[in-house]
Amino acid sequence: MPRIDSHQESNRSQLMSNCLFCGIIEGKVKADVVYRDENVIAFKDILPRAPVHILIIPIAHIPMLSDLTLSDGSVVGAIFGVAAKLAEQFGIVDSGYRIVVNCGADAGQTVFHLHYHLLGGRQMGWPPG
Ligand code: AMP
Ligand code: ZN
Repeated sequence: MPRIDSHQESNRSQLMSNCLFCGIIEGKVKADVVYRDENVIAFKDILPRAPVHILIIPIAHIPMLSDLTLSDGSVVGAIFGVAAKLAEQFGIVDSGYRIVVNCGADAGQTVFHLHYHLLGGRQMGWPPG
């Protein structure tokens, strides 16, 4: 069975104490929360880049996409399920939408708690900038 290595596990616990998004999960930082269950929370992005811009994140402090392991499969699946539900709720299923994860410096990741951007409500360009 694949296992989470100890380095990755210590990263997860060390970084969560001063993590902005863990602060939102704990209710210490205010956010416009649009969905929550035991594994996933979603809230509106503070600096929206589209008419609909929601961040969907795991409750567990996973710093970035490259930290995911096979044992995280269920939470990643849940995030995509929540995204589909929110796309419906916010009326962007027919017009279309995009899900983006920035991983690391070149992608422009600024908050190191894994988050999936759900963007919609306007025409988007390709390739991304
Ligand atoms: P990224 O650049 O992919 O790491 O995305 C981080 C996102 O978090 C950006 O779109 C920010 O606008 C957003 N953000 C930063 N602080 C907050 C906050 N307090 N509440 C909601 N969204 C935030
Ligand atoms: Zn965190």
